[in-house]
Amino acid sequence: MKKILCTFLLLLLSGNVHAALEVFACEPEWAALTQLLAGDKAGIYTATGALQDPHHVEARPSLIAKARRANLVICTGAELEIGWLPLVLRESGNSAIQPGSSGYFEAAHYVTMLEVPARLDRAEGDVHAAGNPHIQTDARIFLPVADALGKRLIQLDPSNTVYYQQRLTTFDQQWRAAIAKWGKQAAPLKGVAIIVQHHGFPYLESWLGMKTVTALEPKPGMEPSAAYLGKVLNELQQHPARMVIRAAYQDARPSEWIAERAKIPAVMLPFTVGGTPQATDLFAMFDDTIQRLLAGLK
Ligand SMILES: [Zn+2]
Repeated sequence: MKKILCTFLLLLLSGNVHAALEVFACEPEWAALTQLLAGDKAGIYTATGALQDPHHVEARPSLIAKARRANLVICTGAELEIGWLPLVLRESGNSAIQPGSSGYFEAAHYVTMLEVPARLDRAEGDVHAAGNPHIQTDARIFLPVADALGKRLIQLDPSNTVYYQQRLTTFDQQWRAAIAKWGKQAAPLKGVAIIVQHHGFPYLESWLGMKTVTALEPKPGMEPSAAYLGKVLNELQQHPARMVIRAAYQDARPSEWIAERAKIPAVMLPFTVGGTPQATDLFAMFDDTIQRLLAGLK
């Protein structure tokens, strides 16, 4: 009896052990968005860290165990996780989170995709049939994704409908105001020529108006050789760029090699929440991204 009472007290004290929804987020940006919209109604597990390459993740037993307990899986989609998520979902044996069910949510589904290949050839590297999957670098895409996610939370947990609706409205207002602020701050970046280490930034460019001169990867996902970097350096004499940008999870060496020789700054961007010490949440991630890009102009 005493033991039962103790267990009961512990459950009371630990408060939010039973969130209404258990969420499995593939990347930190979707975990952060879910947190903003679901508040204390969701227990969120993030499958990849900010310093991890989301293309290449091991389908570890711990991931499968988390997926087994999830009510909702939220991922980028557009084949970003094609190398590991299908296996995790299959092995989880959880029918509620399989593609096509209400417990499966792909952010890319709500976004107009860029760089959709006319012809699919895997020999061209990590080319995705659905287009470039790195959608989270354009702040604007979070509006339709949040709207769809808010509706999905309500569908999965209708008893908290009012709560989710209020949080979605708050997010939508704050996010629109932030987009307007970021747009003003980023005005000097319009038309600026950049080099990218990986083709990870077309959405950022389409939002802020920067132009990619070239990429340091010969093919998406392929590390550049010294000879290839030399070729890029030559190309820069014809088509100069102001900075070379990379995501926090990427090896710094290729962009630093170019930066040193071309005498332009190498700019590391958070790419997701937690990618830099400053990028503590979604708002801070874009604040930091723009500050780093502006610093690269100086
Ligand atoms: Zn990629």
